[in-house]
Amino acid sequence: MRIFIDMDGVISDFEKASNEYQRIHGETGRPGKYVDYRNLEPISGAIFCVTELSFNHDIFIATTPPWDRPKVWGEKREWIEEHLPFLKCKLILTHRKDLLIGDILIDDSRYRGQPDFQGEWFWFNKNWKNKNWEACLEWISKLENK
Ligand SMILES: [Mg+2]
Repeated sequence: MRIFIDMDGVISDFEKASNEYQRIHGETGRPGKYVDYRNLEPISGAIFCVTELSFNHDIFIATTPPWDRPKVWGEKREWIEEHLPFLKCKLILTHRKDLLIGDILIDDSRYRGQPDFQGEWFWFNKNWKNKNWEACLEWISKLENK
């Protein structure tokens, strides 16, 4: 299957960096404008699970960068190279996830066309037991066996 995987909130922990930024700088700052995306921590289980999936599936990273910070586009590419180097040439920048053609979309947001994705959308949420990487892998294995 062709699987698209979002970055922030799915494989990279933007929320944690964002909270840390606000703790230091106060609520006035907009973390998306300042956070160094190269330094985001991987979300628990993400690297292992994406690597596992890559053995049997065609994986792409599909992420929406802040469009007014082109520097971040490169930072995302560098993050991929550090944590999932085999995907460094499979990075798609888009705010229209509905335009992607494939089987599965793993994404924590619903505001970038995710509900209109033509395949199956796994609505990820690292804080929920049934929406984390373990649950996602289990869900995909059920689709594999259909
Ligand atoms: Mg996201």
